[in-house]
Amino acid sequence: MNLPPVDEVLKGPQGQKWLGLHPRRFVLSAIRQVLDDARREIRQGGRPALGTEALYPLIEKRIKVLTTPSLRRVINATGIVLHTNLGRAPLSNAALENIIRVSKGYSNLEYNIEEGKRGKRYTHIKRLLREIAAAEDATAVNNNAAAVMLALSTLARGKEVVVSRGELVEIGGSFRIPDVMAQSGAVLREIGTTNKTHLKDYEAAIGPETALIMKVHQSNYKITGFTSDVSIEELVALGKRHRIPVMYDLGSGCLINLRAYGVGSEPVVKEVVESGVDIVTFSGDKLLGGPQAGIIAGKTEYVERMNKNPLARALRIDKMTLAGLEATLFDYADPDRAVKNIPTVRMLVEAPESIRQRAMALAQVIKKGVKTPEKARVEVIGDSSEAGGGSLPGVSLVSHAVSVRPEGMSPNRLEERLRKGAPAVIARIKEDALLLDARTIAQDEIETVAACLKTALGEIS
Ligand SMILES: *Cc1c(COP(=O)(O)O)cnc(C)c1O
Repeated sequence: MNLPPVDEVLKGPQGQKWLGLHPRRFVLSAIRQVLDDARREIRQGGRPALGTEALYPLIEKRIKVLTTPSLRRVINATGIVLHTNLGRAPLSNAALENIIRVSKGYSNLEYNIEEGKRGKRYTHIKRLLREIAAAEDATAVNNNAAAVMLALSTLARGKEVVVSRGELVEIGGSFRIPDVMAQSGAVLREIGTTNKTHLKDYEAAIGPETALIMKVHQSNYKITGFTSDVSIEELVALGKRHRIPVMYDLGSGCLINLRAYGVGSEPVVKEVVESGVDIVTFSGDKLLGGPQAGIIAGKTEYVERMNKNPLARALRIDKMTLAGLEATLFDYADPDRAVKNIPTVRMLVEAPESIRQRAMALAQVIKKGVKTPEKARVEVIGDSSEAGGGSLPGVSLVSHAVSVRPEGMSPNRLEERLRKGAPAVIARIKEDALLLDARTIAQDEIETVAACLKTALGEIS
């Protein structure tokens, strides 16, 4: 039991070296943890008492864990473009640059430069949404769940909101329309059935208590077979007849016509706004490809009431998000520019051949570093991926992946080793192979992915 006290390790040359590189508390903590573990093992007779030096690599490993930020970059090799667990939309360069420009110093976040007096943070979002989505007015909050909540609370607190049973959506992370409705203080008036809702169902539900007609986009599911629902145009006409506002929760804010690129049949925000709907809500970090935000666009009368709701203060968007959002929206002024500059849009519409080229390039770099077929069998295969993140349900995107079948290791073990590497590479298992889907692997990540794979296939422990 001849392990040294913590102090002695710390005072030794190795300890001093660590102290020169890392904050004292982490070095101390790492040494303490490793010594404690070693003592316990010796006591339990598990490990012979080795010299202190044998513990250095363990201490170093622990220091590394303690000094690595918890929130960090990972490489998405799943092919799922809007992976909610992996942070949804990666930001465009323009968004990132604008975030730095605006946040590094002071900004006119709530200051009207023209008039030299207090301004409103919401004005920054208005101009572009008018331009791109033909919206009379717009505002933004923390995320789309907050946007829906704010809209319901402002327009229908204590009153009824008519929604089709086929649209009572649950989005991952416990966002459920009935629950959000309850939280907002509005009363849900469900109509129709799961598969069919008719205009007459809406008609029958409207009464003196009705404050809002709400349509919700079926973001992450599809009802197929014997179905019907009521179009937004019909609902707008109905709302006009009864003088009741109509809101459409679009979920994904698709600002360009993805159908034109052969991807899905998502409603375009501008078309929905032009249908005459009073309010639309959508996310900033789904198909839009910007930072997490919830955008509310529509008639000034309603948007202004929402901005004045005290709840808006609790849900308000910060300057970094606004800066990223404005720069992202700017690229939508021209659809070609959006496709070129916004990573989410680019990945969604990328031609299969272009993805295959990148998969081939990745396979080639892998083969340079890894002995094939002794260590692993590596080949490019056709595959399919999805948009993810509650967008484009049921739409399968043709993709290409590098398939890796390791020798002497299960694909699941390889998946784990890649995941626990630095940086973490998140891959998928299909049958007996590990797949690295090139759709979500950027050109400048190829070398890194190959190096991580080499390491993961290497030292088998
Ligand atoms: C995703 C989604 C939401 C929630 O949006 P967040 O930005 O994730 O808060 C709300 N409604 C619909 C229809 C959605 O698809």
